[in-house]
Amino acid sequence: MTELATAPERADRTHGPARINHWIGGALVAGESGRSGPVYDPATGVQTGEVDFATVEEVARAVSTAREAFPAWRAVSLSRRSEIMFRLRQLVDANRQELAHALTAEHGKVLSDALGEVARGLEVIEFACGIPTLLKGGFSEQASTGIDVYSIRQPLGVVAGITPFNFPVMVPMWMYAPAIACGNTFVLKPSEKDPSVSLLVARLLQEAGVPDGVFNVVHGDKVAVDALLEHEDVAAVSFVGSTPIARYIYETGTKHGKRVQALGGAKNHMVVLPDADVDMAADAAVSAAYGSAGERCMAISQVVTVGDVGDRLVAAIKERLPKIKVGAGTEAGVEMGPLITREHRDRVASYIDKGHKQGATVVADGRETAPEGDGFFLGVSLLDNVTPEMDAYRDEIFGPVLGITRVETYEEALRLVNENPYGNGTAIFTRDGGVARQFQFEVEAGMVGVNVPIPVPVAYYSFGGWKASLFGDSHIYGPEGINFYTRGKVVTSRWPDPATSKVDLGFPQTR
Ligand code: NAD
Repeated sequence: MTELATAPERADRTHGPARINHWIGGALVAGESGRSGPVYDPATGVQTGEVDFATVEEVARAVSTAREAFPAWRAVSLSRRSEIMFRLRQLVDANRQELAHALTAEHGKVLSDALGEVARGLEVIEFACGIPTLLKGGFSEQASTGIDVYSIRQPLGVVAGITPFNFPVMVPMWMYAPAIACGNTFVLKPSEKDPSVSLLVARLLQEAGVPDGVFNVVHGDKVAVDALLEHEDVAAVSFVGSTPIARYIYETGTKHGKRVQALGGAKNHMVVLPDADVDMAADAAVSAAYGSAGERCMAISQVVTVGDVGDRLVAAIKERLPKIKVGAGTEAGVEMGPLITREHRDRVASYIDKGHKQGATVVADGRETAPEGDGFFLGVSLLDNVTPEMDAYRDEIFGPVLGITRVETYEEALRLVNENPYGNGTAIFTRDGGVARQFQFEVEAGMVGVNVPIPVPVAYYSFGGWKASLFGDSHIYGPEGINFYTRGKVVTSRWPDPATSKVDLGFPQTR
């Protein structure tokens, strides 16, 4: 492989697609597999990049670089690691605009949303700044006579992160910030659909003082992922993506002896009770369904109306739809950008026809309101009278298609949420605190919003769903993230007078 002295040329129409390389040992490394994938500007449909796909050997090189960097990095003092995280925090803060622009260029989400993504990722870096406190162990003096016992947490070694297209800045931050702060070294395999921003981040980590080799990026597809899952020197894998791949990652990674947390897809229901403030619920449903063109694992994709609120809510949502400005994410005033690829746009659009054929009422058809041109656009769509047998209800659509299901009682609404195979997020809209409390108590989902449509936990809690939305025992970031990236050790120690020493074959007693 060839080491490049400078970053690849920016994509423009005169130079053609930019080559997007790996980042190994603190430098860009051109892939030599001969395999690569196209990267598009979803707003224009123009190919702007060509990303290298790593071979098994290239992944092995990244892992061995990370392995070599591990002993020195884990020996770096906590206060120094904390200082580096504080510097990273400053650098990400100072480069918010650049990161957001790079993100929008390949993902398509509007700039304000991209800035929001950077901001939420930054909170996880801020959490990691407190690593000296987070790694404090326990100490029991005189656990037995003259014996002290203490617990410590130590890093695992080389850990890998495999991430989805929809949050190319934030989701990797959920992983590498705590992982590196805990003393691990890291190999990131970002989504091949919007891979460039991870190289900007790699430079920021280097500038912050993260030693070369501690953070590496390999691009690619299943070949690269499988190489990470099977490599004996990868101790743990964090994955975020769709449910079928999450299940595969969990099964394959654990079979190879790794610790795995694999977060999957979602079908988030928002339950609206008859006493809810209809305007507030409509604002929330529209924001949470169509923000980021519905390409959020915490998007609301299904509203469940209870009793007579259905007609009022659908009317209020419908009234808001024509006002949503769809266009290129970089254009001022635009609220919703394109979808990630042409194929994905077409797949999402197919649910409008399927919904219609299966008996749903198409209140708004996004194909009729999509901006013209070659961008991967779809306008906002609303399907009413969706029932659980329909494809639009059963599948994770991951686009700007909101379904409405009408039921008569709170119990029916709860049953729908609990019978759904996914259990990522859910929300209830009501003015009745007692019912909201009951919902929180009995609903089967990992993240619950009470009058909050996208209840992504703050950085000092942990993020994760239930059921088919999470494979593994550990949620991501927050306290569970620290536990995931470390293992416990308990030390029992005494400093006796050697004169008191004697042979004793009995099992050690504490009293
Ligand atoms: P994806 O599952 O297609 O891809 C995720 C990662 O897996 C990518 O890096 C990709 O290269 C890799 N991958 C894809 N196919 C693979 C295969 N056959 N073998 C091995 N690796 C493979 O997901 P996506 O389309 O990039 O992202 C959207 C999905 O992610 C949605 O389902 C969304 O709900 C989910 N998501 C979940 C969360 C969460 O926190 N639960 C957060 C964000 C996104």
